[in-house]
Amino acid sequence: MKAIILLGGPGAGKGTLAGLLQGKTGYIHISTGDMLRSAVQAGTPVGNEAKASMDKGELVSDAIILRIIDERIAEEPENSCFMFDGFPRTIEQAEGLDQLFKKYSGTLTHVFCLDVDQATLLKRLTGRRVCKSCGAVYHLQNKPPRKAGVCDIDGGELYQRADDSESTILNRLEVYKKQTAPLIAYYKKQGILCDIDAKGSPEETAALVLDVLNV
Ligand code: ADP
Repeated sequence: MKAIILLGGPGAGKGTLAGLLQGKTGYIHISTGDMLRSAVQAGTPVGNEAKASMDKGELVSDAIILRIIDERIAEEPENSCFMFDGFPRTIEQAEGLDQLFKKYSGTLTHVFCLDVDQATLLKRLTGRRVCKSCGAVYHLQNKPPRKAGVCDIDGGELYQRADDSESTILNRLEVYKKQTAPLIAYYKKQGILCDIDAKGSPEETAALVLDVLNV
């Protein structure tokens, strides 16, 4: 297996970028946030355990995250290419991922660090709306649906994620600075960190990444 990581604070645009890259590269998009939200909706044991932390903007335990990632990797053929979004989020998870690369004979080729200022992050998160049925992501100003509150794709109801309220967002930004930002130094040391200016449109950001990936 081969993998890249999309690293960046909440609202940096990891999910949107991953969607664009998936179509252009064939990398399989693995979002721990999406996996956990599905688990919460389905009421699985993982979902029930994760819900309280997620609603507060705190991190779910490293053990749960590493287990669901291991299970997800195992579902795909050996020579797959993965794109991790929202994982790893702690040094412990990064070390756990190093172990998984050993287990699956994998290589981590790039860690793309998405750089956005805090004011832009806040605007992106407070305006974000998500389709309840298909998960499509909209933004009240940047990407409004044709009809307010309704998904263009399947007519599903648009809702605001429980953790996109202003007070929870501020907590998520703090959690990012304390627990996830140290990964920047971790991967810089390995020589695979690549800074990406992510203030532009999703297409502009994707073009910068594709240039580095050479595809
Ligand atoms: P964002 O990047 O916008 O904060 P995500 O969808 O990636 O949103 O994550 C939402 C929530 O899910 C996080 O606040 C956290 O509670 C949980 N979560 C997602 N990925 C991880 C992870 N790798 N480790 C721990 N918790 C996670």
